[in-house]
Amino acid sequence: MPTIARLPDLLISQIAAGEVVERPASVLKELLENSLDAGSKAIQVHLEEGGVKLIRITDDGCGIAKDQLALALTRHATSKIVSLDDLERVSSLGFRGEALASVASVARLSISSRERGASHAWKLKAETGAEPEPAALMAGTIVEMRDLYYNTPARRKFLKAEGTEFAHCADAVKRLALTRPDVAFSLTHNGRNLFQLAPADSPRRIADILGDDFLGAARRLEAAAGPLAIAGFAIDPTRATDAKDGQYVFVNGRFVRDKVIAHALREAYRDVLHGSRQPAVCLFINIDPALVDVNVHPAKTEVRFRDSRAMHQFVFHAIQRTLAAPVQAESAPSLV
Ligand code: ADP
Ligand code: MG
Repeated sequence: MPTIARLPDLLISQIAAGEVVERPASVLKELLENSLDAGSKAIQVHLEEGGVKLIRITDDGCGIAKDQLALALTRHATSKIVSLDDLERVSSLGFRGEALASVASVARLSISSRERGASHAWKLKAETGAEPEPAALMAGTIVEMRDLYYNTPARRKFLKAEGTEFAHCADAVKRLALTRPDVAFSLTHNGRNLFQLAPADSPRRIADILGDDFLGAARRLEAAAGPLAIAGFAIDPTRATDAKDGQYVFVNGRFVRDKVIAHALREAYRDVLHGSRQPAVCLFINIDPALVDVNVHPAKTEVRFRDSRAMHQFVFHAIQRTLAAPVQAESAPSLV
């Protein structure tokens, strides 16, 4: 008879990390979400070697109290929900309380933080037995991850070339920057500054990230019905190009890949866009949080709608109406 034994905590975290920490970009996404959930208004990202060697996020959010630092690194510890009720209407980007613990199990992690109003900052390394040490920090939090997969060589083999991993990291920053134009973001890779985004309105931020060309060739849309609302830009079919990386769909501020929405988009463009072209769009969809389940997968890029037919029809009609409307001078997106 095989014997059943409980797995050690570290191994439990390493197994769970397989779902959350797919590559450097997934670590970066989790850390950025934490900074946004902490109310940050300016976030700096420093990467080395595609994020494998170093990911350092500096934010100006609410910070973490000294006596909570160790807890933040523990599995299933979160400040964002306390009950099933909260989970059902969650509005923060995180809520599972496992990102930091997962990252800590497959990389070297440290957090330095100064809670708002505290007299100084503290730093905690995620190592067994480590104690918080005084740190120099004016406000906010610095999370530093080094040497991803240093202790799990099998996983390291799945990493792609530095350039590829970096491109995924840059995408992760861009996606969150699109949803939060009010927040400043900067990105540095191997000491080179790649972008610096000042707080802006949404069209300006979209132009900063997706380019003036996209904005100039897109139609603006805005619609609402019951618990659903949509706003954003959809490419004018006559001006679509072959660029295939142009689909940005956000649900309640979260970048998602959703079959229902993707299908609605294809249908709405079907008669006006040729061949296998993917319509370039940047769409922000809002729905009553009680009508969407974001707790489908640990990476949280999948969602499930309670009424997916209603979502499909809503998106389909909103796009179709926008594409059918005559182009008016005033409906052309304007940049301030
Ligand atoms: P979750 O985000 O799901 O709560 P995490 O493991 O990502 O789980 O983070 C655990 C907790 O640590 C968070 O709930 C939050 O209280 C705290 N935390 C993490 N990052 C930051 C940050 N940058 N600023 C303030 N608090 C943070
Ligand atoms: Mg989190």
